[in-house]
Amino acid sequence: MDRIFNFSAGPAALPLAVLEQARDELVNWHGCGISVMEMSHRGKEYMGIHAEAEADLRELMGIPANYKVLFMQGGAAAEFAIVPMNLYGDKTSADYINTGEWSKKAIKEAKKYGNVNVAASSEDKNFTYAPAQSTWKLDPNAAYVHYTANETIGGVEFFWTPETGNVPLVCDMSSNVLSRPIDVSKFGLIYFGAQKNVGPAGLTIVIVREDLLGKAQKCTPTVFDFKTQAENDSMYNTPPTYAIYMAGLVFKWLKAKGGLVEMEKINRAKANLLYDVLDSSSFFQSPVARENRSLMNIPFTLKDASLDEEFLKAAKARGLVQLKGHRSVGGMRASIYNAMPIEGVQALVELMKDFEKQHG
Ligand SMILES: *Cc1c(COP(=O)(O)O)cnc(C)c1O
Repeated sequence: MDRIFNFSAGPAALPLAVLEQARDELVNWHGCGISVMEMSHRGKEYMGIHAEAEADLRELMGIPANYKVLFMQGGAAAEFAIVPMNLYGDKTSADYINTGEWSKKAIKEAKKYGNVNVAASSEDKNFTYAPAQSTWKLDPNAAYVHYTANETIGGVEFFWTPETGNVPLVCDMSSNVLSRPIDVSKFGLIYFGAQKNVGPAGLTIVIVREDLLGKAQKCTPTVFDFKTQAENDSMYNTPPTYAIYMAGLVFKWLKAKGGLVEMEKINRAKANLLYDVLDSSSFFQSPVARENRSLMNIPFTLKDASLDEEFLKAAKARGLVQLKGHRSVGGMRASIYNAMPIEGVQALVELMKDFEKQHG
């Protein structure tokens, strides 16, 4: 069977060129006689792979020198706990912006470690927009302000960076990191699981400003203490070596594509193809506010939900898979991360037009 177009929200499609390179290097990396999977994490070969992955990520994102890059495990969901454990310090409360399913989970977890002030929420409109900063009720004494840059399930994305003054800004960027340039210096901490837009599952990346290190609560597991991991180049214990290697290949692929400025152009072109269909159709609808429509995850519904199964069947017949919407919202969702070529989106758009002609 040939490769098909995989619209999965995560674990998601990886660039074919990266998979092919990994295949070619699988059993004997660069002539050293063993696989990356079999290398000691303290050996010269792996240490080189690890350092290069970090350097390439720093270059791609323009990460300033006073930020540490940590390769961790546990997924973004673990960071929902690890972040409060590390950042409350001697403060008693943190501000959270509630824009959907992932924000809700982050809030629920943070409440185990301190008070949470929900400074803004879009629950009033079923999480279909990002609340304007002018409506946020921020606490000047908060330990940090947390928001979700792209709600993977709801398809709601922030296209502006909140201003939080002296209070560190913390962001879950799991599903839109590396999709376009951002100014890292505006953030205290950024975290993301790898399996959406970076690499295989098992790797979680944290980018943290140095002055935020060293505040972990006493009960924090040592492997989850940002300071410990920073002081040990993410090798206090065995890091997820193969996932880091794969992420490193993806970073090189992104650099060869022209970096994040180019990726943004491609990602906008891809998303526009889909939103144009949604805008011009009375058969397909998007629930999301125009200014917050995600470039990465595009949920849409059919006018007649009883046709959902037939739509998915027709998609599968054309080699378009994983389009079923999240169980909490229903309908469809097309996740079109960096690795989704524009041809995949074009094929989906053709299917939608044909399906509407037939059933509209
Ligand atoms: C997928 C996702 C998570 C959860 O990631 P895990 O790796 O499963 O823990 C959290 N936040 C966002 C925005 C996500 O897309």
